[in-house]
Amino acid sequence: ALLVCMPQKANLWCCNTTVTTPITQAHETISSLQTLVLDGYLSKEDNEHAAKDFGNIYHFPPLAVLYPKTVYDISRTIKHIYEMGSGSELKVAARGHGHSLQGQAQSHQGLVINMESLQGTEMKVHSGEFPYVDVSGGELWINILHETLKYGLAPKSWTDYLYLTVGGTLSNAGISGQAFRHGPQINNIYQLQVVTGKGEVLTCSENQNSDLFRGVLGGLGQFGIITRARISLEPAPMMVKWIRVLYSEFSTFTRDQEYLISLENTFDYVEGFVIINRTGLLNNWRSSFNPKDPFQASQFNSDGKTLYCLEMTKYFNPDETEAMNQDVENMLLALSYIPSTLFQSEVSYVEFLDRVHISSMKLREKGLWEVPHPWLNLLIPRSKVHHFAREVFGKILSDTSNGPILIYPVNQSRWIIGETSFVTPEEDVFYLVAFLSSAISLSKGKHSLENILTQNKRILDFCNNAQLEIKQYLPFYSSQEEWKAHFGRRWELFVQRKSRYDPLALLAPGHKIFQKTL
Ligand code: FAD
Repeated sequence: ALLVCMPQKANLWCCNTTVTTPITQAHETISSLQTLVLDGYLSKEDNEHAAKDFGNIYHFPPLAVLYPKTVYDISRTIKHIYEMGSGSELKVAARGHGHSLQGQAQSHQGLVINMESLQGTEMKVHSGEFPYVDVSGGELWINILHETLKYGLAPKSWTDYLYLTVGGTLSNAGISGQAFRHGPQINNIYQLQVVTGKGEVLTCSENQNSDLFRGVLGGLGQFGIITRARISLEPAPMMVKWIRVLYSEFSTFTRDQEYLISLENTFDYVEGFVIINRTGLLNNWRSSFNPKDPFQASQFNSDGKTLYCLEMTKYFNPDETEAMNQDVENMLLALSYIPSTLFQSEVSYVEFLDRVHISSMKLREKGLWEVPHPWLNLLIPRSKVHHFAREVFGKILSDTSNGPILIYPVNQSRWIIGETSFVTPEEDVFYLVAFLSSAISLSKGKHSLENILTQNKRILDFCNNAQLEIKQYLPFYSSQEEWKAHFGRRWELFVQRKSRYDPLALLAPGHKIFQKTL
C-alpha cells in the first residue's frame, strides 16, 4: 500500500507547484527535435521513470527522454534547443542514476537526458606515475571500481554508496570518509568533457577552460553536462581493517575524530554516526564485527543513551597484516572510546566500499528502499558543531529510529582544486552531518513524511536562529533569494558562469535556481 500511495501523495505536491512553461511551445520543440539525426534516440513514451528519484517526494513528468549514444547526440540536441532561443520553452535535465532527493534530475514538461545510455563508452585505465581512468559521465562508480581493480588501481575518494553516476556526484561534491585526506571526489578529477548550455563540446581542466572546469565541479549541473571525466587513481589495497568504537561524550568523540584527521599517518577512512535511544546495538554489530573483548562487550548496555560511534578503516595487503595491526593498535591507544565497545572486522576492499549496496538489498527485500527519503545533509563549521549537537541530538531528535545520522569532519585546507562551485562553511575543518531518514509510514506519527519534514525544518530553523553558519549539502531551496544566501559571496561568480555557459537557463531546472534567460 505504501509503494502505491506515496507517489499519489507526492503528485499532489507537484500539482501545487506553479508551472510557467507554455506547454504547446514545448511540445513543438520536442517535435522539431524528432527531426534530428541521432546515434541514440528520443522517446516520448513510457517516461514515468524519469519523474522518479530516490527521494520519492517530487514527481515531475518530462515530455520526452533522450537516450544518447554519443556526446554528439547531446550536443546536437542542446544546440538545436539553444538556437530556437528562449521561445523553445524546453528545459533539459541530465539524469544520472536518479538518486537525487528532491527532483533535481527531473524536468517538468521538459527533456530528460538519460546519461546512463552513454555508459557503453569504453573506460580507459592509464597506469604510470599519476594513474587515471577516463570514463563516461553516465558511468556508475561501482563499475569504475571493478574496472580499475583489474589494473590493481582504484579512485581515491568515494561516496558511501556506489550506484551513483560520475556526473551526478561530481555535480555535488562526492563526500565520504576518505575526503579528509583526498578531498571530495571533485578534488580528484584531472579533466572533464562538458556539453554547455549552448551545445558546445568543451574539454576542461585546471589548465584548459579552467573557469568552466571549476564551475562544473559542484555546479549542480548548471553550466554543462559532464560527458567524460578523467579520474585520478591510486594503488588499490586488497583488504580493509574496519573498526567501530563508541563514546558517550560528544566532546571526546569529536576530539578524537579531529585528532585522527589531523595526523599524516592515520586511518584511510574516518566517519561516525549518532545513536539515540537504541536497544541491543552491539548485538546487531556482532553479525559483521567481532568484539575485542567479548565478555566486556556483552556487559555493555546501550538502552536509552545517546552514543557516538567512531568508524575507521585501515587498508592493507595480506603480506602487511602484522605491520598494519601494529599501526592500528598504536593509533587506537591515543583514543578515549569506551573500552568495552571496540569492534573489528577484516573484509575485502570491494566488500567495504560496496557496503551500502548490501544493506540496500536487504531493505529492498522488505519493501523499505522505495519509500520517501526526506534526507537533510548539513555542513557545520567545527566551532559550531557542539552547539548544534547539544540542541539537536536528544532534544529536537529523541531517537534515531527514522534512519542513520552520519557525522564526521573534513579539512578543506588540504584540497587542491581552486574555487569550485561547491559551497562549504568558511572554517577549514567542518562536519558533514547527514540525517538519512526514511518515511516508512503513511499515517501521521514518528515515521511519517510529514513528521520528518517538520523535524528537518526545526533543525534548519535552529541553525538559522542560532547563526551557526551552516551550509546545506545536496542543497534544496525553492526561491532564488535562498540560493543567493546559500552561495553568499560566490553568488555573483555563479551567475556570471551561468550567463557564460547556459545563458538561456536551459540546464538542470530541478534545482530551481534560474527560471529565466539571463
Ligand atoms: P542524479 O540524481 O541523476 O542527478 C543529480 C544532479 O546532477 C541533477 O541535478 C542532475 O541534473 C545532475 N547530473 C546528473 N548527471 C549529470 C551529468 N552527467 N552532468 C551534469 N549534471 C548531471 N553523496 C555523497 O556525496 N556522499 C555519499 O556518501 C552519498 N551517499 C548516498 C547514498 C545514497 C543511498 C543516495 C541515494 C545518495 C547518496 N549521495 C551521497 C548523494 C548523491 O551523491 C547525489 O544524490 C548524486 O547526485 C546522485 O547521483 P545520480 O547519478 O543518481 O544523480
